[in-house]
Amino acid sequence: MKLIFEKSQPGRQATTIPASDVPAVQASKAIPAHLLRDEVELPEVAEVDIVRHYTNLSRRNFGVDLGFYPLGSCTMKYNPKVNEEAAKLPGFTQQHPYAPAEWSQGSMQMMYELRQMLSEILGMKDFTLQPAAGAHGELTGVMMIKKYFDRLGQKRTKILIPDAAHGTNPASGALCGFQTVEVRSNAEGGVDLDHLRELMTEDVAGLMLTNPNTVGLFERNLEQVMEIVKSKGGIMYCDGANANAYIGTNRPGDLGFDVIQLNLHKTFSTPHGCGGPGSGPVGVSEKLVDFLPVPRVVKKGDAYEWEYDAPDSIGRVKAFYGNFNVMIKAYTYIRSLGAAGLKRASENAVLNANYIKEKLRDHYQLAFDRICMHEVVFSGEKQVKESGVHTADIAKRLLDYGVHPPTIYFPMIVPEAIMIEPNETESKETLDDFCEIMIKIAGEAKENPEMLHKAPLTMPVKRLDGVQAARQPDVCFSGGCC
Ligand SMILES: *Cc1c(COP(=O)(O)O)cnc(C)c1O
Repeated sequence: MKLIFEKSQPGRQATTIPASDVPAVQASKAIPAHLLRDEVELPEVAEVDIVRHYTNLSRRNFGVDLGFYPLGSCTMKYNPKVNEEAAKLPGFTQQHPYAPAEWSQGSMQMMYELRQMLSEILGMKDFTLQPAAGAHGELTGVMMIKKYFDRLGQKRTKILIPDAAHGTNPASGALCGFQTVEVRSNAEGGVDLDHLRELMTEDVAGLMLTNPNTVGLFERNLEQVMEIVKSKGGIMYCDGANANAYIGTNRPGDLGFDVIQLNLHKTFSTPHGCGGPGSGPVGVSEKLVDFLPVPRVVKKGDAYEWEYDAPDSIGRVKAFYGNFNVMIKAYTYIRSLGAAGLKRASENAVLNANYIKEKLRDHYQLAFDRICMHEVVFSGEKQVKESGVHTADIAKRLLDYGVHPPTIYFPMIVPEAIMIEPNETESKETLDDFCEIMIKIAGEAKENPEMLHKAPLTMPVKRLDGVQAARQPDVCFSGGCC
């Protein structure tokens, strides 16, 4: 098939615009030279060529609407289509962010209620909806922690982060000026309490704990962890990106966390990938409520207003009010499932992961042999030792069977990691099919390792040179070739 650039014909175009009724001016005469952009070499094609180009590309793509997509950590959660319908309502899409509050009552009510629902679900005092993603939520949370200690007049320079944490945690701590210090994991995949005790001193602002953590395990010693951190006046931060494992079963606020960021695009059903859009609301306990960003929607009588006057606020962290349409989808999801439905979604996510764990345990080595939460982590070390087949070979081979590979080589504390997260809506039959394929591949690894090194065998592109792609990226920004 020809590339769209090869189809280009000078002068061919997709739209015809009426002749201009003002004299044409050459750009170089009207705009100072240093502000002029280089000529962009866009393909000149007809509308039908553009439609075919993008439709063909979309057919080469893989998504949750095409097949099983067990990507761990990122949670390719099911996104009910009704969410999209709600987000498409003209009352929302036609709303201008600069419209005055009197004209925006419905949108403000939605945001106000979403904040209330999230506070109730997670057991927090209040939430901000501004942050645009999980990492941005972490940054917002850590900024509030910093301001909290500034107000107390305490100089705390470090923040503790377990070695299993998502890379964004140390990045957020460092961006706020903290020295990030790594806490070791113990043999059962939790926080090493002795190491934590050793590190938790009075110059430490707190601990950023992912729970369940990035190996899909609930922290068994949470009470002791809390006690160690709080006995030195530290703040417990919860990275709530994995909250989809326990909604309706426990509330981080009740457990003693003072801050939590959520990823609406993971836990509350917004499609994600390719960098957005996301939404990373941050919930706080009473202790930190004054530091929440502004503006905040407040309710006065029956009316909603914007409140800017909050002397201790860390200020604004996002243009306008956050990624608004992601909020609508989360709101719709919560309202349509209700309390019982949300709890059931989490229970099913955990059940599905444990089902896979049990079915595959004799064929792949479990990283931690205990009940997992919403995701299960295997290690491909058994295959490496037995036949020299690596996790990457297994993942590539899955493509031949029409399955999107799980997350691999993450978390980094598990060698040859294979991190499988089935979402809560997958049926037993789909899980059985997937496990059968995984077992078949384990057999192929023993019998025909050479073939697995070459997989995928049936895809339009075969084994790519990942190292060269990372070192010399050839990225095209004109849209369509990546
Ligand atoms: C995804 C994730 C993040 C980062 O969230 P983004 O929305 O991608 O910025 C942080 N922590 C954990 C545990 C995650 O899974």
